[in-house]
Amino acid sequence: MPIRVLPEQLIHQIAAGEVIERPASVIKELMENSLDAGARRIEIDIAQGGVGLCRIRDDGSGIAADELALALSRHATSKLTCIEDLERVGTLGFRGEALPSIASVSRMQLISRARSADVGAKVTADNGSVTDVAPASHPTGTTVEVRDLFFNVPARRKFLKSERTEVQHICRTVERLALAAPGVHVQVREGQRELLNFAAASTTEQRERRIAQVTGPEFIEHALRIDEDTPLLHLYGWVCSPTWGRSQPDLQYVYLNGRPLRDRLIGSAIRTAYRDVLFHGRHPAYVLFIDMDPALVDVNAHPAKLEVRFRDARGVHEGVFRAVEKVLSATQPAAITTAGPGYTAALLKQAQVAEQWPLAGSTASLDLHRDWVRDAPVVDRDPLAAVTAPVSVQPQAQTPPLGYALAQLHGIYILAQVPEGLVLVDMHAAHERTTYEQMKRQLAKGAVPSQPQLVPVSVQLSRAQADALEQFAESLASIGLQLQRSGPTSVRVLETPALLRLRELDALLQTIATELLEEGSTHALEAALDRALGTMACHNAVRANRQLNIPEMNALLRQMEATVRSDQCVHGRPTWVHLSLQDLDRLFLRGR
Ligand code: ADP
Ligand code: MG
Repeated sequence: MPIRVLPEQLIHQIAAGEVIERPASVIKELMENSLDAGARRIEIDIAQGGVGLCRIRDDGSGIAADELALALSRHATSKLTCIEDLERVGTLGFRGEALPSIASVSRMQLISRARSADVGAKVTADNGSVTDVAPASHPTGTTVEVRDLFFNVPARRKFLKSERTEVQHICRTVERLALAAPGVHVQVREGQRELLNFAAASTTEQRERRIAQVTGPEFIEHALRIDEDTPLLHLYGWVCSPTWGRSQPDLQYVYLNGRPLRDRLIGSAIRTAYRDVLFHGRHPAYVLFIDMDPALVDVNAHPAKLEVRFRDARGVHEGVFRAVEKVLSATQPAAITTAGPGYTAALLKQAQVAEQWPLAGSTASLDLHRDWVRDAPVVDRDPLAAVTAPVSVQPQAQTPPLGYALAQLHGIYILAQVPEGLVLVDMHAAHERTTYEQMKRQLAKGAVPSQPQLVPVSVQLSRAQADALEQFAESLASIGLQLQRSGPTSVRVLETPALLRLRELDALLQTIATELLEEGSTHALEAALDRALGTMACHNAVRANRQLNIPEMNALLRQMEATVRSDQCVHGRPTWVHLSLQDLDRLFLRGR
């Protein structure tokens, strides 16, 4: 075949292939245009899954009659004039491609009235040919009507899914954009049926209500608020408390300067922040807004503009990671609110609590295997008395957040009394977390102190496992594990962390070696070491059915209060729950 220049219409259709994949892409482009035009109200009507009709009407700035035809030409935009503008884009659109692309694969009508005009105008595009502009009545704003999508591109049409699925895609698209524009009233209808309706929101409470409309109310109820400034960016929004992790990564919304993103870098920064606290294999949920100087971001990196390039990618990763980690590490028992652990109000009080309970800080080395912390406050030294006699409850202002232990249940739970009800603590999970955090602090200071084994133990492993332990021997020494290769399939344990009383060294080393093999490439080493610390903390933690006395239990409670992230164990399970007197009254149908 000879080389030919393609016909104009075909060029448009090829370009449309990049941005207009399905009806939801039409809605996305048109809704972005309405938002760029400063609309306060956006009404969307669809029919036949958006293939038959997508109509979007806004009350934005409108388009002047003499620019109407121009809006439909390729590379025509009012949002850029020169290359400098491209380097600091503040609008959602800038490529001038959406309207001509959509027009080339549908029958489109554009009606608009600019703010300064007395009357509106309309223009129609059918299969690429544009009619003359004619006067039409329309309030200030714009209506774009797109019918028979892909009628002239049968191949595309074949790739569309069922009507229901396409409607789902449209709704998800609108929701994603609606979260970024809380002040705009957004409505979606299919015939007479209302699919979505977001009232304009201005207060935080109203914004949270809008988020709840998208995510379901539980997310907001379990969310922690973030609002952090770094030299590079401002980050704010909502992240789920670690015990609310999801089995799917389906509740993850990130916005950069108001633009929805699917960005791997930011996703990875958030995942890293949850590394220590989320149950393995669960996914965090979040709605996060990042604002930064547009000059530091290249948004011209993806046809649908879902990805961007950062000038300082490392700085963005670090900033997001630190901000999220900070709010997550504040999940420790604080003054109990009726909502229970992990709640915003509790977090706010956390700083005060640390000061209020210097005792908690002084019991730094809770060691459940040696002498018990003596100076922990004790309700009653005789556990039986605690059960038989009414407990002398301290005045409210003096009770620490997790209260005082009353008893141990089935060798698993600690039952503690607080002025507002009772607290149940999972002993093993709590001890595991406090030990782990303590070892991490030691590691941050240099190395975890170790202690020689009285009798060095030789552990049998596979050759690959032994190789992995030998390869990372130096790093393992930094977390208190001194090992020496003693044969092709064995290593000798010379020293173990001083803080721990490790048993079953075989099982422990096998787990650590396997994990090193799985993710022990050098850059993931930090994560692997954290995991190894977690494994050791877990092996060390008090096992179920170990009888604790009251001072031991209280020592653990005080230790939890002094430990960051202690609302969850290393695996992301909660370490404690609170039952208020109200909850108890409800159980017993009191006061009905
Ligand atoms: P872009 O958004 O990249 O500029 P589009 O093809 O989406 O390109 O739109 C072309 C131009 O048409 C825009 O720059 C804008 O001036 C105008 N326009 C499109 N939709 C609207 C709208 N809803 N309200 C006001 N102006 C609009
Ligand atoms: Mg646009």
